[in-house]
Amino acid sequence: MKAAKLGSENVIWDLSALYASLDDPRIARDMKAVRRDAAALAAEYRGRVAAGKISPAELRKFMVEEERISSATGRLGEYAELMLTTDNLDEGAKSLMMKMQELGSDISNTLVFFPIELGQMDEALFARLVADKALDNYRHYLLFLRKQRQHLLSEKEEMLLSKRDLTGKLAIQRIYQELTSSFKFTVTVKGERKVMNGEQVRSLRESTDSRLRARAMKQYFGKYTENSLVITNVFDTLLKDHQIECELRHVDEPMGLRNLDNELDAEIVNTLSDVTRDNTDIVERYYTLKARLLNSKKLTLADIYAPISAKPRRYTWNDARTIVLDAYAKFDQRAHDIIQEFFDKNWIDGRTLPNKTGGAFCTFNLPGAHPWVMLNFTGAGRDVETMAHELGHGMHGILSAKQTAVNRDAILPLAEVASVFGEMLVTDYLLGRMKDPEEKIALYCSKLESAFATTFRQNMFHRFETRTHGLIADHQLSTDELRSIYHEELVNMFGDSVTIPAHYDMEWAIVQHMFLWPFYVYAYNFAQLVVLSLYQKYLEEGEKFKPVYYRILETGSAMTPAQILGLAGIDPRDKTFWQKGFDFMRTHWVEPLEKLVSERK
Ligand SMILES: [Zn+2]
Repeated sequence: MKAAKLGSENVIWDLSALYASLDDPRIARDMKAVRRDAAALAAEYRGRVAAGKISPAELRKFMVEEERISSATGRLGEYAELMLTTDNLDEGAKSLMMKMQELGSDISNTLVFFPIELGQMDEALFARLVADKALDNYRHYLLFLRKQRQHLLSEKEEMLLSKRDLTGKLAIQRIYQELTSSFKFTVTVKGERKVMNGEQVRSLRESTDSRLRARAMKQYFGKYTENSLVITNVFDTLLKDHQIECELRHVDEPMGLRNLDNELDAEIVNTLSDVTRDNTDIVERYYTLKARLLNSKKLTLADIYAPISAKPRRYTWNDARTIVLDAYAKFDQRAHDIIQEFFDKNWIDGRTLPNKTGGAFCTFNLPGAHPWVMLNFTGAGRDVETMAHELGHGMHGILSAKQTAVNRDAILPLAEVASVFGEMLVTDYLLGRMKDPEEKIALYCSKLESAFATTFRQNMFHRFETRTHGLIADHQLSTDELRSIYHEELVNMFGDSVTIPAHYDMEWAIVQHMFLWPFYVYAYNFAQLVVLSLYQKYLEEGEKFKPVYYRILETGSAMTPAQILGLAGIDPRDKTFWQKGFDFMRTHWVEPLEKLVSERK
């Protein structure tokens, strides 16, 4: 299908609710006002917060004004970002973007005294202040800020640490990134020698040629093995650095700092990890089935993303729009109406353009505005899911708009609920309409493989992280020890369903998250399972579920994830909640797939 016939080329967002154009005189005026107001606010409150010389009403006044300033800064930043998104080379947008980054950093420097002073305030005084009714809308946020500050050192010590990081942690991370991105691979594809980067080699896992897949992955991991002296040293140093940081900040366990950010406690994260580990039989069942689909006795790890042959279907913009709207309508009219508004009011940019940013996103929700959705629609099945995904974020934004600004944006573990839920709606809708069993088989496989990548696989990384961080206080880990720990986790995930070539033991070395953002990966598993479990709840409860679901989205980040899930009567400490997600995978995806495969001629 030609791009000209997709219908997405005329889907252009209307940003006039932000500014009229890059030369809109309001831009300069607003920038000036934001700087002036932030300075005035700081002058009025600096020194008073730490000393506790502030009444609940005054603190509220501060919060309201701070929100107003950060929203105005956010609008300016958003306009620059969105203008740049559709034309990365536009000089005007680039220069506005630079000005906005400078503005953002100036404003945050002007107001940084507030969280610091809040942390210094006397405990009893803070407790009395924050309990006041005047601060109802801000209590959760203030408690969160205060809790974080408890693990901060003095201003001077923080400054020293962050300076030392430049030649310490950050320098080590840069070595890892620069080394691994310099890797080049020479692979022979269809008789032709090709020089590839890591991303290109990894994409060969989707080749139909099994020998090529195996060869490519052997070479890929071989490069990491050759460089293991540096990579292992880097990894160990980062583990040690993290351990020292935890000690300095009085954080008891390695994932403590991350849990603080995510507002989750270790008990919940551990329950999630254990239940995931207990359900790996799903992985084994699926790859045994996939071996049959690929006419192979047993797959190797290089085959797990091999394509199931099917003629991929193409969609026009209108097809996709109809599918997504119908799928949301099938769930609920209210959800449909919220999504419809994005199409009707031009809050979406669907074009593919030479200088447009790749991928897709939905902007955050600023007071007095609405989210915008960016897509690069090419007509592939994946694009229909992406449309449903980003509009799910959009719906989340619209619903949480009733919260005050600091409570709007969903916290990381719940940030993907509405988006992935939207994808589920579309999947079910499509499965209900597909006639061709081969097409259905391909859809089930792709759903399972992407769900595995966000659940079992991330949990494997999480377990590896937990074990290695646990050992570093005792000793440096050798490459062999890291390999053998990783090997055990591979076996935990795949069991006997696939052959594990020895070079896969080095796979931990490619997981950038573990080098750059310790303990980030469990949030992916958390988010995906919350959605599967909620979806299962929806199937069980029907109408009764809907108001609860809206309530979850409307709450934004006004409560902790556990409290928000509590609104739906869900206790994330309870294993049975997480189990629901895996039961869903079994009964709704694996079993129907098994049936289709057994009926295959
Ligand atoms: Zn998303």
